[in-house]
Amino acid sequence: MSTPIPTSAELEGEHTLVLRWSDGRTLWYALDDLRANCPCAPCNPEPGAPHAPRAAFDGIRLNSLDEVGTYALSLKFSDGHSTGIYTYERLLACGHPPGAVPPPDMPANFEV
Ligand SMILES: [Zn+2]
Repeated sequence: MSTPIPTSAELEGEHTLVLRWSDGRTLWYALDDLRANCPCAPCNPEPGAPHAPRAAFDGIRLNSLDEVGTYALSLKFSDGHSTGIYTYERLLACGHPPGAVPPPDMPANFEV
């Protein structure tokens, strides 16, 4: 079975991204959560090191969002950070269904 792809992306308010997926799911993402768990190399200097706390990115917004090939999204945040490539697998794993209470933080060893 192939990985679902996003069929639409929209912002709910200023701080929540909502992605609809080709398998019918709708998943929500807190932007501070996505930013704190940015997968790029500069944000992850050491394997397994704790990520920055979400609180460090309180109030962060999304400037733009671009598809990367057919497997990932590139997110550009309001703090100027734009090097994170969020694979669909990762996004599918960390999204919250509508109405779910987001966990306070993803575990530091979150990997997809
Ligand atoms: Zn990063």
